[in-house]
Amino acid sequence: MNKFYYVNTNAQNTGEHEVHAEGCNHMPSISNREYLGYFDSCKDALREARNKGYDKVDGCFYCANECHIK
Ligand SMILES: [Zn+2]
Repeated sequence: MNKFYYVNTNAQNTGEHEVHAEGCNHMPSISNREYLGYFDSCKDALREARNKGYDKVDGCFYCANECHIK
């Protein structure tokens, strides 16, 4: 299912930028997120985040669990 994905522009304490799908309860505030695109898979969203220069990215535990590492 395609969803809109966003990356948190603020890194976590461990250095990763979390990627979230639309509707997530843990979505960063509008000033702390960057729109990535409309993707079929969180894996594509993480790839796009890397393309945008976020070297360390991680899927959100709640909304992108299959891409969640830490
Ligand atoms: Zn999330």
